[in-house]
Amino acid sequence: MARTKRSRKRKGSRILFFAAAVLVLLLAAGLFTRVKSPMAPDASVFAPQPQAPVLHYEGELDSPALLTKAWIYGTHLNLEGQLPLAQAENVLTAQLVLYAADGQEQSWPLFYTGEGEQLRFWLSEHINGGIELETLAEGEGFLLVRVTALTGQTAADGTAVSVQTQHPLAADGTADSLPGEYYTVTKNGANRRIALTAQPLQLAGGAQPGIFLRCEAAPLPKQVYDIVIDAGHGGTDAGSLSPDGKHYEKDIVLAIALKTRDALQAQGYKVLLTRDGTEDPKTKMAYTMYDADGRVTRTVASGAKLCLSLHLNSYDGHLRDGQGGVQIYAADAMDYTFARSLSQSIADAAGSYPSTMDYYNVAPGVFCRTFTQSDSDELAAEGYEFNFEPYDIPAGTNYYYIIRETGCSVTGAYIDGRHPHYGENIYRGSRTGVETYLCELGYINLQEDLDTLLNSPESYAAGIAAAVQARFGG
Ligand SMILES: [Zn+2]
Repeated sequence: MARTKRSRKRKGSRILFFAAAVLVLLLAAGLFTRVKSPMAPDASVFAPQPQAPVLHYEGELDSPALLTKAWIYGTHLNLEGQLPLAQAENVLTAQLVLYAADGQEQSWPLFYTGEGEQLRFWLSEHINGGIELETLAEGEGFLLVRVTALTGQTAADGTAVSVQTQHPLAADGTADSLPGEYYTVTKNGANRRIALTAQPLQLAGGAQPGIFLRCEAAPLPKQVYDIVIDAGHGGTDAGSLSPDGKHYEKDIVLAIALKTRDALQAQGYKVLLTRDGTEDPKTKMAYTMYDADGRVTRTVASGAKLCLSLHLNSYDGHLRDGQGGVQIYAADAMDYTFARSLSQSIADAAGSYPSTMDYYNVAPGVFCRTFTQSDSDELAAEGYEFNFEPYDIPAGTNYYYIIRETGCSVTGAYIDGRHPHYGENIYRGSRTGVETYLCELGYINLQEDLDTLLNSPESYAAGIAAAVQARFGG
């Protein structure tokens, strides 16, 4: 008897469960999304959904704009696309709009150029420009391109008539053309997850392809980090040597890397070291960067937003005091604001100065080295020497592997396994890259630099931590 009772109860709860499930499905289908509500996370909206969510939109949309490229580099989402538009040269303004489910929107101006029947547009001229993902509010929505253009007609009062049109942004159907998911840098112990997906938009006139963006509070997965600190060299690769023959670059930068990790962790960041000094001294670290536990592989796999690779400079000739200092190497086509502040902050903390070297200089204390034609020829020659199909890497490609390969496709990563000395960068095609800086902290063969490097590693760590905090803290 007890059995009958229990089964009846179960039936009742099943009906309740069914009703709840129907409600959740209705919410998921977006049927109530026109109801104005704050952007705060809503359990029903953010609950895991077994099927692709469909976003309802009742406004009028014109022909879709096609996303041709999208990427995340460091903390920025950037994209490019094109829009078929009659008389594209008549466009006056173009914006990218994130239209949220609750009717609210955020927008960013687009760069554009009209060519006949095509409007080509892009978010930023810099690989680290576009949408700053760290500042995105929680919520969800889809991407629109909003354009105003002259019609060619004149109003009665003599003014030119313009018209505004809105176009859903659509991917070309290949999901891997979108960057992967993004976790914000840890702030007050919390993180948000941001994902872009190709999803249908439910419109009055039927479904249309669209791109859906969701930003929600989420715990940082175990394997995801905020910042990578890469102590250069290691193992049999000792790096440069001090003039007295007593100090190797690999040891000095390791001491600074350990202090930097401590300083950043004290500020609440989750930090990954690519090596911590426990590595086998016989390991050939000049060639292991693309191994499963190699510095490039581990850096990209960590999903970090920032990687700082610590090195020391050396110079064959004689250096006078004032000819050393701090050099921050960054990728090409970047906004160098952070690189400049990093260079100045390290110099200030260590009682040093941003290097005034002319070579490769792109901003105060900031440098960028790219392949010259002779670098490209030299790389190709290695193919003949080591018997593999020579690389054909264009001049202008980022030169330093730690910057190029951790930035993945954004910075021109190309290591595909053909060279017998190296493995393969399995992330080279990824559209999500780590923003990496190669930090030459000082000159090992200039006594004034070497003294501080040896005696005060914590000052370099403090300078790095201050620059990171100025960018991510607050
Ligand atoms: Zn080095």
